[in-house]
Amino acid sequence: MSRPKFVAGNWKMYGSLPTNASLLSAVKSGSSSLKAQIAVCVPYPYLAQAQAELAGSNIAWGAQDMSEYDKGAYTGEVSGSMLTDFGCRYVIVGHSERRSYYGDTDAVVASKFAAALKVGLTPILCVGETLAERESDITDKVVIRQLDVVIATSGVESLTKAVVAYEPVWAIGTGKTASPAQAQEVHALIRSHVATANAGVAAGLQILYGGSVKPGNAKELFGQPDIDGGLIGGASLVADDFIGICAAA
Ligand code: PEP
Repeated sequence: MSRPKFVAGNWKMYGSLPTNASLLSAVKSGSSSLKAQIAVCVPYPYLAQAQAELAGSNIAWGAQDMSEYDKGAYTGEVSGSMLTDFGCRYVIVGHSERRSYYGDTDAVVASKFAAALKVGLTPILCVGETLAERESDITDKVVIRQLDVVIATSGVESLTKAVVAYEPVWAIGTGKTASPAQAQEVHALIRSHVATANAGVAAGLQILYGGSVKPGNAKELFGQPDIDGGLIGGASLVADDFIGICAAA
């Protein structure tokens, strides 16, 4: 099955109204003729700005996290339905920065994934091993464990409405990219693991690579058979770099 390529930007906690305005308008005009699916995941306060700037364009928008709860006394949290109020299509869940700094356990990530689906958002589920885990040779075990909690909670068919991003923690924001072969190996593992539960779901599943993707390494990464695009942090804040990566896809 041929899967469309998808590139999503993760702005993290960067931006301001004026810098976002120029970034969004440059990305919009620079990517208007590209074939890849494109999205930007922006900080919550800028969702209205992303919606105003991107509505009617070929770029979708989304958030970088959400609450696992529908509503309630959860000070500081943002629900999935609040995101859909601003036209979001995507939400990142389980980013390694959420897992490591904010205590998002596998179970919490699975609840957020389920809550996203419930309101019609497409979750971008991040999985990936730390350097210590890679060096202990437990990459496969970690990635499968992270995936299996979600499958146990929402069922394997839920992956038809989701995207998986393999992001080795040691490659995020470090300038160290997994080699195309290293990334492909884990992407193939993810796909074959999903295939043991449902081959059709596995064949259609978009699996993105994330971790120091730049215009110079994107083409080779995205050329691997099981890499269907990228989740882009730092380079998504530089219009020319992000457009270059989208063009590579
Ligand atoms: C990320 O934050 O998801 C990411 C991949 O970051 P970077 O591209 O900066 O490594």
